[in-house]
Amino acid sequence: MTTPHTAPGGAAPQPLPAAPGADQHPALALVNTRTIRPTGAFDDLAEPAAALDWLTGSGLLPTRRTLTPGEAGRLRALRECVRDLFTARLTGDAPDPAALAELNSALAATPFTGRLHWDGTADGPRLESRPAGGTPLDAALTRLARDAAELLSGPHAEAVAACGATGCIRYFLRTHGARQWCSQRCGDRVRAARHYARTRAAGTT
Ligand SMILES: [Zn+2]
Repeated sequence: MTTPHTAPGGAAPQPLPAAPGADQHPALALVNTRTIRPTGAFDDLAEPAAALDWLTGSGLLPTRRTLTPGEAGRLRALRECVRDLFTARLTGDAPDPAALAELNSALAATPFTGRLHWDGTADGPRLESRPAGGTPLDAALTRLARDAAELLSGPHAEAVAACGATGCIRYFLRTHGARQWCSQRCGDRVRAARHYARTRAAGTT
């Protein structure tokens, strides 16, 4: 597993838009919190305050809470496990046993039980899954681990893809067969590089 670094100095780089599938799958969004930008490697979860913002912004943790450096480290560690497992799924290699064990540990951290939610509106009754025990962070990590496990083993497993643009390390859900990039920006960058290479080749002959 690699240790992410935040690019030193300078203004915060322009973030990429969410990759396809990341809005529906928090595990995918988690993996994509570590990116390569023009200024270098960037980690959205490098600081506890930023990790807390990400968790609350994703609806995984209640607001008005703090996050210790150790708790932010647990979130980053789970991210690296999920990334390792996504990579193994794509390459067909056996998963790193340590990554698998850590994901399973996060899965087991908080039991979830069913509750029937029914408020009399036209929405009707719905079955909700609620954490039973554990800390709020344990519950957030279990939710992320569950989403990762469902992605890896469920009907969308074949659609999990790595962005094909050089220098991009994001993952996305392939919404149609031909999609190769996590964003239009990555696709434009690859097309521009190909055009530049063709122009240069034509100029040297
Ligand atoms: Zn990309």
